[in-house]
Amino acid sequence: MSVMNVRRLIPATAVTGAVALGLVSLSACAGTSDAADKGSSGKLDVVASFYPMQYLAEQIGGGHVAVNTLTKPGVEPHDLELKPRQIGELGEADVILYLKGIQPAVDDAIAQAGVKNTVDAATLTKLEAHGDEVGHEHHEGESAEEHAAHGEEHGAEEAGHEGHDHATEAGTDPHIWLDPVKYAEVAKGVGAALEKADPAHAADYAKNTDALVKKLGDLDSAFETGLKNTTTKTFITTHSAFGYLAERYGLEQEGITGIDPESEPSPARIKELQDIAKKDKVSTVFFETLASDKTAKTLAGDTGLTTDVLDPLEGITDKSQGDDYIEVMQSNLAALKKALGAK
Ligand SMILES: [Zn+2]
Repeated sequence: MSVMNVRRLIPATAVTGAVALGLVSLSACAGTSDAADKGSSGKLDVVASFYPMQYLAEQIGGGHVAVNTLTKPGVEPHDLELKPRQIGELGEADVILYLKGIQPAVDDAIAQAGVKNTVDAATLTKLEAHGDEVGHEHHEGESAEEHAAHGEEHGAEEAGHEGHDHATEAGTDPHIWLDPVKYAEVAKGVGAALEKADPAHAADYAKNTDALVKKLGDLDSAFETGLKNTTTKTFITTHSAFGYLAERYGLEQEGITGIDPESEPSPARIKELQDIAKKDKVSTVFFETLASDKTAKTLAGDTGLTTDVLDPLEGITDKSQGDDYIEVMQSNLAALKKALGAK
């Protein structure tokens, strides 16, 4: 149990006494205020679950926060298992920022950490279901299999894969950050949470939030304009992470089934994708930076298509086509414009 949790158990009278003795920081932990104890770093200690949360914390927190990201660069978020040390550190955080439903190991640890200022990004915007995880019937656009393959929720794959569930409990798609409009909604909520946790710097957090929301608005405009007039609206991708993005800009995402990087799509799905590619004039099969491109290359080779990267931004590495969220999204836009034949 963390020091902070122990402190919370101290009765209010004891706290009053402690404050009188000059141990002022106790009041922040045990008092009625949501203000966080800024600990030894002198900064607000923010734990972010994975890159899209880290970026928000850094952009909005600026110099007032020290951000620690649980998912290290190059690790697929759903592969994440926390070390005991990391679980211990969680309890010491002033603010925890995460997206419930994408990393079950993280969700469990955060629930147990009992940190007061815990922010679930999924509550800051509206999540939608993009596959059909319940009925398992085929839909146009993204099918049940695609998302289930990603979330590994199908019966056959359920056993022994508990740590890999990548869809939310309600069957909704967690990839909200790939839609700049939804990400901006989350940014506003995160800004409000930091203001509450660290009221002394509220004005800066508000200013930084506005600046980030403006940047995301510009990104949204660039996608809107760039993808308005294209030869095709359909794109094929190994990782069905782009459901919100597709919906926002009037595109059709076709996921390759069985993505688990090691698994192969079924012959039936391959045939279906070949037909879709022909009918919808698809030129490119997209793969992501953190997973193998083998499936994409196989499909592309069979159908005479090219491959390219569409980055779900679940982590930034040396291989990323850009240094931060905005840059990688701009290269995603460039890749989509090229693949869809933007005019
Ligand atoms: Zn994903």
